[in-house]
Amino acid sequence: MKVLISGASVAGPALAYFLHRNGFDVTVVERAPAARDNGYAVDFRGEALDVLAEMGILDEIRRHETKMRGTTLIDETGAEIGQLPAESFAGELEVPKRALTRILHENTSATVEYVFGDSISALAEHASGVTVAFEHAPAREFDLVFGADGVYSTVRRLAFGPHDEMLCHLGLSGAGFSTANHLGLDHTGLLQSAGTTAIYLFSAEDRDRLTVSLSFATDSPELDRRDRPDQEQAVRAAFARNGWQTKHLLEAMTTAEDFHFGSSCQVHLDHWSQGRIALVGDAAYCAAPTSGMGTSQALIGARTLARTLAEAPNDHLTAFAAYETELRPYITENQANGRAAVAMFGGAADSSGR
Ligand SMILES: Cc1cc2nc3c(=O)[nH]c(=O)nc-3n(C[C@H](O)[C@H](O)[C@H](O)COP(=O)(O)OP(=O)(O)OC[C@H]3O[C@@H](n4cnc5c(N)ncnc54)[C@H](O)[C@@H]3O)c2cc1C
Repeated sequence: MKVLISGASVAGPALAYFLHRNGFDVTVVERAPAARDNGYAVDFRGEALDVLAEMGILDEIRRHETKMRGTTLIDETGAEIGQLPAESFAGELEVPKRALTRILHENTSATVEYVFGDSISALAEHASGVTVAFEHAPAREFDLVFGADGVYSTVRRLAFGPHDEMLCHLGLSGAGFSTANHLGLDHTGLLQSAGTTAIYLFSAEDRDRLTVSLSFATDSPELDRRDRPDQEQAVRAAFARNGWQTKHLLEAMTTAEDFHFGSSCQVHLDHWSQGRIALVGDAAYCAAPTSGMGTSQALIGARTLARTLAEAPNDHLTAFAAYETELRPYITENQANGRAAVAMFGGAADSSGR
């Protein structure tokens, strides 16, 4: 059976691994020109570690562990008011996302066809398969198509409908960047949560650098689509009254080369499949970074989907239904936790769930 997966980050290569192992002929198309070499730290919890072990990459992943030791909670003056254990933000194992993506890709590159620098542009399902058009490559036929292409999934948009109908914004936006580690943090973090704003700082892999997250409550997710000057201005306005290190961090933000901005959102769908097309990972059920479960969900979702397909060969509708029945309670719980945790980062708790 020939299948196409869109997206080569976490869910995509993991699904490719398990489908190939079950005898599928797998192609992965990724919009980026090569395996992604950027991103924050991601963590694994619970069964996700079993998935890594089953793929034979757990030991290699462990070699990249960030080894965070915990986070100090501070008040508005910077005085310590509490401690969070390492597992709060780093789960049972935390690694830089680029290490995970690279290892997942290397683990499958000999057995799976990867097409980088391209994207699906149209999907036409018919009785015996799906005709897929690409932005660059000629059209091809597949039996099944999977969207593992993240929150703003192209497969979901083409097969399920516009993003706005599926995305649920959590009222929290934030800027991330790195700067010199002037506070001397060493595998530790600082979290200052002050009503509608939060500052989270940590240093791990590179002790000369401090990773900075400035998050704030907002009901303007369209800020994501604005230019950097507008986004910086929104951050400055949100933090205008904060003291402690805020002035220094806002100055560092304006010169940061790795500045990025994003709003927390979840993906809520009534169904994760449509005929011969199914979604996995953030594309189907993003629980927001505040859940700390996105990477685990992507890995567990990929393994579950591949297993249900192996258990119902030649009956993708039954397989997709079983995938959803089995996984949905876990996703619902993670999404609820993701909404509740928004309060810790400056947002209003559980403001927009379903
Ligand atoms: C700031 C931040 C911090 C986070 N922290 C954590 C954390 O601590 N712990 C945790 O577990 N999770 C965390 N997450 C979430 C985690 O990164 C995601 O849940 C996880 O990466 C989901 O994997 P995925 O493969 O489904 O999607 P993604 O990792 O988003 O990958 C989607 C892939 O699809 C590709 N793509 C997109 N469009 C197309 C297209 N049209 N054609 C082809 N390819 C396409 C993209 O280039 C990308 O490679 C965080 C997320 C953010 C934004």
